[in-house]
Amino acid sequence: MNSIATAAALAVLCACAPASAEGITVTKNGSQSVVRSPAENFTGNVHTTNRFNGTAPSRLVGSTVVFEPGARTAWHTHPLGQTLIVAEGTGLVGLWNGAVQTMSKGDVVWIPAGVKHWHGASGDEGVTHIAIVETLDGKAADWMEHVTDEQCAAR
Ligand code: MN
Repeated sequence: MNSIATAAALAVLCACAPASAEGITVTKNGSQSVVRSPAENFTGNVHTTNRFNGTAPSRLVGSTVVFEPGARTAWHTHPLGQTLIVAEGTGLVGLWNGAVQTMSKGDVVWIPAGVKHWHGASGDEGVTHIAIVETLDGKAADWMEHVTDEQCAAR
């Protein structure tokens, strides 16, 4: 379908658009400030963009998280688990038992509820992931101690 036909088709759709379209919010890329992640819960340079959250009854919360090389979260858990979708680069996700796995662009990672873990960049490459959680009683994560260089290197 060429672009004129597409536009015409969309115009028809819009003309009969039901009220269900009300309440949909499109937050434009680049319209949000870049927020540096707190050193209390992260090592190295980490920032978030494109933050999002559902409105009740949704408990969905997320953001795009950018880790510079060597940057990572502290150890933490999520009360209802977490999904990570890697948008750029290659990073690492580590479990308290020592297993560290690689995650690359397009990979989808599921971290179950209550599982102690960390995620972030490798030493020589940055990574950007979209992080998605459901909050429990308004809480998205429980933060713990920082991850050591030795823990990052465990494979
Ligand atoms: Mn996490």
